[in-house]
Amino acid sequence: MSVREEFDTWAADGRDKGMEKRHWHTAKYVLARMPVEAGDTVLDLGCGSGYAGRALRDTKNAGRVYGLDGSPEMARNAQGYTDDSDVSYLVGDFDHLPFEDDSIDHIVTMEAFYYANDPHETLREIRRILQPGGTFFCAVNYYEENVHSHDWQDSISVKMTRWSGEEYRESFRDAGLYVAEQDNIPDRETEIPNTSEFPTDSWETREDMVERYREFGTLLTVGVSP
Ligand code: SAH
Repeated sequence: MSVREEFDTWAADGRDKGMEKRHWHTAKYVLARMPVEAGDTVLDLGCGSGYAGRALRDTKNAGRVYGLDGSPEMARNAQGYTDDSDVSYLVGDFDHLPFEDDSIDHIVTMEAFYYANDPHETLREIRRILQPGGTFFCAVNYYEENVHSHDWQDSISVKMTRWSGEEYRESFRDAGLYVAEQDNIPDRETEIPNTSEFPTDSWETREDMVERYREFGTLLTVGVSP
C-alpha cells in the first residue's frame, strides 16, 4: 500500500487528530527547543493534522509555515484547521522536497521521518533546502533502542526504517549536516496504571510501560546546515 492509500484512510478516520493528541506530549518540547525567530520560514515534514506549524506561528511568531504530507486527505484536513494565510499545507513526498536551495530556516518532523522511501535522499534534500545555520529537528518514537516499538511495522503497510540513535547521527553527517544534539524526551502524560492492573491489553508489565514512555520516550536528533 502507498503512503497515500495508508494515510488517507487514517485521515478519513480522524486519526490525524488522535495522533496530534498523543504526539503533543513530547512534540511540544521539541518545538519549544527550536531556535525559530520571528519571521522565519519553517517546514513540517509529514505534518498530519498540521499542529506543529500552527504552534510555531502562535508561540514563536514564525513567518511562513509549510506542512508537507504525502496524504492529500491529511493535507486537506490540516488546511481546514486554520484560516491563517501564512500557513500552507502541501501534498508531496519526502524524496523530492518542492523548495528552492537554501530557502527554509528550520525544518521539523514528528513521528514521520522513518516512512521515507529513501531516508538518506530525504536528508540530502533537507540539507539542500536549509539555509546555512538552519536546523532540522527530527523526532521519532520508532527507533532501534525503543524495543517496545519494534512490532509497529506489523500493523502498517508502508515500509519503515528503524535506525539507532547512532545511525541517525551518522546519516545526518553523511548528508552534510552537523549534529548539534541528540536526546530522549520522556512522555510524562500517557497514564500508566497501577501494578495490579497489569498485564493490560497492550502491556505485559508496568516496568515495560514505564521504560517505553518515561525513559525512552521520543528520540530527538538535531541537525544543523553548515
Ligand atoms: N507529524 C504528525 C503526523 C505523524 S504520522 C503528528 O505528529 O501527528 C506520519 C505522517 O507522515 C502521515 O500524515 C503520512 O501521510 C506522512 N508521510 C509518511 N510518509 C511520507 C512520505 N514519504 N512523504 C510525505 N509524507 C509522508
